[in-house]
Amino acid sequence: MTTSAAPRVVHARAPGKINVFLKVGALLEDGYHDVATAYQAVSLAEDVRAHPADDFSVSFSGTVDVSNLATDGSNLAIKAATLLARKAGYRSGVRLEIEKHVPIAGGMGGGSADAAATLLACDALWGTDLSREDLLELATQLGSDVPFAFTGGTAVGMGRGDQLSPALAKGQFQWVFAFADFGMSTPEVYRELDRHRDRHSQDIFPAEVQPHVDAIVLQALRAGDPHMLAEVLHNDLQAPALHLEPELGAVIELGESNGALAGMISGSGPTVAFLVADLDHALELQIALSAARLNVVRATGPVHGARLISD
Ligand code: ATP
Repeated sequence: MTTSAAPRVVHARAPGKINVFLKVGALLEDGYHDVATAYQAVSLAEDVRAHPADDFSVSFSGTVDVSNLATDGSNLAIKAATLLARKAGYRSGVRLEIEKHVPIAGGMGGGSADAAATLLACDALWGTDLSREDLLELATQLGSDVPFAFTGGTAVGMGRGDQLSPALAKGQFQWVFAFADFGMSTPEVYRELDRHRDRHSQDIFPAEVQPHVDAIVLQALRAGDPHMLAEVLHNDLQAPALHLEPELGAVIELGESNGALAGMISGSGPTVAFLVADLDHALELQIALSAARLNVVRATGPVHGARLISD
């Protein structure tokens, strides 16, 4: 029997993120660290279009350089689709087209956003009937930042960053991002942090095993006050990222001397995120950084997590 319905295409979108606060706990015996983070989803998104297909494939386009991205089973989007198919008992595949706007290996969770949007798109395409909780459970299996890309907004992440609780945030914060023309490996930045802590064990307090997010950070988010938030932005991965790529320090200084309230390394870097007071300051900073030949993008936060888009 043939059906008259044309094969559908499902379009899903998921956001990149910034960690406005990130504390990394002591190195655990399993080689990982617990973290305490406050995430904000920002208006730099990944668009995933899922087409019916017999097997699994992915192709990329977008505003960031996608030429070196693996498209085999190591790609997080393929992993997300195959994991969902296995869970749902789905026997066919999917052809994924991904439009990337979040820099690759940039510390903004682009791969995680691809995985979250792929879960949602394939779930709708295949009609799996899984619950939101089931999808979130799969997201957790795919990576620490994938659950947040799924839920979006503003949230506190504990454990590996995947134990989420929503946080209140008023209004919109204005961000300006300076992208680097290279990527940084998250595990390598964590290793550098461990080496740094070993080297300075005599003169710094030992890292907490279970760090927490400072209450003042949540207050600043709740108040929607960029000046207050700028005072408390914090990233434990900044020092090791700057140790590995010292020239990023000059980028932070350039932004801070051109009107940014504060600049920080985003996640494990190398993207530098600047918080600004309002749109006018964002535009001025964008012009100043672009004049220094940096690749600059403006965004606001918080925004939605993964969602379906009707084209
Ligand atoms: P995180 O901070 O979550 O580790 P990130 O934002 O720094 O990640 P991503 O762009 O998510 O960086 O990519 C991290 C690594 O994952 C890269 O080395 C990249 O090659 C690999 N990767 C696998 N799938 C993807 C994907 N769909 N998009 C981007 N990178 C991917």
